[in-house]
Amino acid sequence: MGELDQWKHCPRCGADAEPVAGLLECPECGFRVYASSKPTASAVCVDDEGRVLLSRRGIDPFAGKWDLPGGFVDEEEHPRDCVRRELREEAGVEIEPLELLGVWIDRYGGNGSAAVTLNFYWTARIVEGTPEPHDDVAELRWFPPSEVPADELAFPHTRDVLALVRQQHA
Ligand SMILES: [Zn+2]
Repeated sequence: MGELDQWKHCPRCGADAEPVAGLLECPECGFRVYASSKPTASAVCVDDEGRVLLSRRGIDPFAGKWDLPGGFVDEEEHPRDCVRRELREEAGVEIEPLELLGVWIDRYGGNGSAAVTLNFYWTARIVEGTPEPHDDVAELRWFPPSEVPADELAFPHTRDVLALVRQQHA
C-alpha cells in the first residue's frame, strides 16, 4: 500500500480528491502531492574487536527486537548529519561516519500498510563516549558478527546490511 492510498481529501483546501498512481492532484485548488518513502539514516558502529553495536527497540514497531541505531531524517537534514544526531540521542556517543555502505528499501512495520522507508547506512566508529541507551532504545550491546541474533532482528533489511558488513570484514 502506498503513502497516499487512503487519502480522500486535499490536505490544503479539503476538497474531495483521489490519488492516482502515487499522485494526488486536487481538482479544486490544483495542489499536487506525490507519494514517497521516508528516509532514515543509521550506523554500523564497529569496535576494535570487530564487534557491531546493536540497539534493542523500546517502542513499536518491533519493540524488543534488535536494530541498528539510527532514525528518521529531519526535513532539510543531510542523512550523514542525521546519523550523528541519532547516535548522540540514542546512545550518548559522538561518531564519525566512515563509508556509505548502501541504501535499502523496507517498511516501518510488519504489515503492508506501514510506511515505506529508504534506509541509508554508514559504517562508523565511536570517537567519544560509551554507548548507553536513551530515548526509545531499551538496550545497546556489542555483538561479534557471528553472534548477531538473526531471528530477533526488527527489520528484514537489517539482515542484508549485516550480511554485507560480514562479507566486507571476512
Ligand atoms: Zn485543494
